[in-house]
Amino acid sequence: MPDPCNLTDKVAVVTGATRGIGAAIAEKLAAHGAHLVLNGARDGAALDAACAKLADAYGVRTVPVVGDVADAATADALAKAAFSNFKRVDVWVNNAGILHEALLGMAAPAEMERAVAVNLNSVLHGTQAAVRVMRRASSGSIVNLSSIMGRFGNRGLTAYAASKAGVIGATMAAAKEVAPLGIRVNAIAPGFIDSDMTAGMAPDKYQEKIDAIGMKRAGTGEEVADAVLFFASDLSRYVTGQVLGVDGSMIV
Ligand code: NDP
Repeated sequence: MPDPCNLTDKVAVVTGATRGIGAAIAEKLAAHGAHLVLNGARDGAALDAACAKLADAYGVRTVPVVGDVADAATADALAKAAFSNFKRVDVWVNNAGILHEALLGMAAPAEMERAVAVNLNSVLHGTQAAVRVMRRASSGSIVNLSSIMGRFGNRGLTAYAASKAGVIGATMAAAKEVAPLGIRVNAIAPGFIDSDMTAGMAPDKYQEKIDAIGMKRAGTGEEVADAVLFFASDLSRYVTGQVLGVDGSMIV
């Protein structure tokens, strides 16, 4: 029986792939044979290194695209890079995001707007760009990174939670619109995952988060990447418009 997770000769776009969850997703897809178009915000050297490492380790082709995902031009550049290099996009992962934490009385409007632009506008732009390429093949899978905060919220996270709730709305609406085109759109809602985003937290705050998790540990980027692999592959060929929690039973 053919392996339904085999992505050989498929092409995947992953935003925010220089580190953390995005790097784990890129590695998981490469390990299953996908060629990659990878994005990072600013450090071209880090992105080039990530591309070279995966190409060497897995024998796939990798193309770097530096750019701010809040800007629609970055989504267009990613789609153009995929099309000019590979003539296709099979999987598009809207992963890049930033945390914004501030109580309402203290939150600076420009920073709240920036969180929404990076976390939500990016998904709108990325989804549009992905659909424009995927519809040519009448197939494709778009995976959006939401958050447990987008479902339940928490104090100090109003802008972040709003952006991640928006990702869920966008996922469900787009899934309905593009299902007839053969394109699936799903979201993942991680809980508390070890990455740069959660590093640097005061030890007592970190422990508080762990205590709120039924499994009593943080998740890993690879555990989120496994969920992405499910949505990217034929294992989920009849699944669209869903939000999958990857949170070890976290209570917020
Ligand atoms: P990290 O902070 O570890 O990594 C963020 C990645 O996003 C980096 O590759 C960074 O690129 C990129 N990035 C940030 N801003 C932009 C931008 N404007 N344009 C392009 N790329 C950008 O985050 P995580 O890996 O932890 O998070 C990944 C996703 O998962 C995010 O959407 C986050 O909200 C979500 N998530 C994370 C959770 C967690 O506990 N860690 C929980 C729930 C959801 P560069 O290196 O160039 O800065």
